[in-house]
Amino acid sequence: MVEEQQKPVDQLQPEYLDKINQELYKRNYELAVRNKTLSLLRDLYAITIESLATDELGKEIVRTLRKGLGFELVGLFVLNEDKTILNPIALSISDHSKETVTALEQEFMKLPIKLVDMSNIANEAIVTKQQIESESLLDVWKPLDQSSVLEQLNEVCNIRTSIVYPLINDAGPIGVLVCSINRTYNELSQFEHQSIESVIDVITIALDKSLLYDQLRVANQKLRELDVAKSEFMSIASHQLRTPLAGIVGYLSMLVEGDYGDMVPEQKEVIKEIFTAGQRLVRLVNTFLNVTRIEAGRFTINFSAVDITAAVAAEVKELQPTANKKGLKLSYIAPAEKIMAQVDGDKIRDVFLNLIDNAIKYTPHGSVTVSVTQADNQAQFIVSDTGIGIDHKEAQNLFEKFVRGTGIARIQPNGSGLGLYIVKKIVEAHGGKVWVESEGVEKGSTFHAQFPLEQSNNT
Ligand code: ADP
Repeated sequence: MVEEQQKPVDQLQPEYLDKINQELYKRNYELAVRNKTLSLLRDLYAITIESLATDELGKEIVRTLRKGLGFELVGLFVLNEDKTILNPIALSISDHSKETVTALEQEFMKLPIKLVDMSNIANEAIVTKQQIESESLLDVWKPLDQSSVLEQLNEVCNIRTSIVYPLINDAGPIGVLVCSINRTYNELSQFEHQSIESVIDVITIALDKSLLYDQLRVANQKLRELDVAKSEFMSIASHQLRTPLAGIVGYLSMLVEGDYGDMVPEQKEVIKEIFTAGQRLVRLVNTFLNVTRIEAGRFTINFSAVDITAAVAAEVKELQPTANKKGLKLSYIAPAEKIMAQVDGDKIRDVFLNLIDNAIKYTPHGSVTVSVTQADNQAQFIVSDTGIGIDHKEAQNLFEKFVRGTGIARIQPNGSGLGLYIVKKIVEAHGGKVWVESEGVEKGSTFHAQFPLEQSNNT
């Protein structure tokens, strides 16, 4: 043997040459299969990156696999939630006329596999977590009510072996891959077996990812629908509340003013409390209405010339009793000259009211200082407090809808997390910006609202 190997090739025995040829052929074949596997893996990997939805991904996978491995039929199935049915996702069959392929694909998609019988090899593959093969394609669907489509598939593709591979993730089986060939099982080379086995994991991960993506899509859609329903509810509820509430608060105001005669001090005190609570309710209802208007794109701004200095003074005056009650010093540093700006008076007053009210609400003791200045054709409204302060990580998010500071509900249960969201929307609708500065928790906060004095397009 050693001697034979050392001889020049033209002097070798014919049978020895035969052996070498056979070995070379085998090695070449192995190499070709390995190359094929590698390029198949590369293609599948590309598919998993590009496709997200399960049906689209499934179609690409079965097509690529069947072509890459030269199979007659490749089908992909996904297990339903209660794990009783394998629903078809995609099918690829060897090249026939387009009509035949389309018709068979359509029929195939109507053929779920019912996991009721162990004679069914898909069921067996799921239960044993092993690949199972059979000479008959019909064994994948057993017991069957109608087998004509499968018989047609069998005939058209000349199927002699069907193999079911279970697709299993960490939580258990999620589906199966059915591969059918026109050879017997024993005719499949070891490398062909290895090839399929090596792509099963990639397919499982891709399928898992896309199923999750589908679930997220459905959940997202549901959330969107709920959000619309919630907005509608808020809008209707707020409208319905507004009119009776305005009447109640109006009468309470007249009672407090003494329009219906004198009351004993205790009565007056109680009526005042009810009046303040009523005012809070009116503001809450207005907040909800504003949010629903913003969401529906019906948030209109009506510009007119407004004395900002006086508007701030009015809001400070309105909130003075609330500050006094908490023992807080509320002061207003008014500018030397009045500041006029083109704004929506009602809405900009809402901004002032919201920011001063928050400062009072989130300051247990100390002071709240309000100021307004003018520079570079901009007005700047500033509210500083000595209150609970803001963690810098949370500062930016507080302007989002329904966001409240961590643990704030314990300190201040009254709050919707909508005030700063509306403030931001109003100021931005004026072409301005809002921001907050705080040295951190317990170090007080300073809120800024800056907006232009003139509106170039809306005056
Ligand atoms: P609400 O006050 O109803 O919770 P806002 O949108 O007005 O809603 O405010 C959002 C959150 O911002 C508040 O829950 C609070 O955590 C924080 N915040 C607002 N103003 C201040 C302030 N002056 N000092 C500290 N935290 C504040």
